[in-house]
Amino acid sequence: MSTVRATDTIAASPGFILTAVFEQTCGACGCVFRVEVSRARVQADIQEYSCPVCHDHVCRVHTSEPPRLTVLSQRAVRGKSA
Ligand SMILES: [Zn+2]
Repeated sequence: MSTVRATDTIAASPGFILTAVFEQTCGACGCVFRVEVSRARVQADIQEYSCPVCHDHVCRVHTSEPPRLTVLSQRAVRGKSA
């Protein structure tokens, strides 16, 4: 029928606009966490965030607010006998 517009807003809350969700694997400890990035209608900045488990794997994202981090899985630490 008509042209479908792909800009359906999902529960728009003022100030917080969810623009990207992706999963990331920490290169340091091997855990998997989800990163939710928002973009407010203000000037975006470079935000730094680190692995929520080991806080050792620092990344940067171009957004105006700190991203939300959710740990999805942690790598089970077995007794390492190298
Ligand atoms: Zn980590």
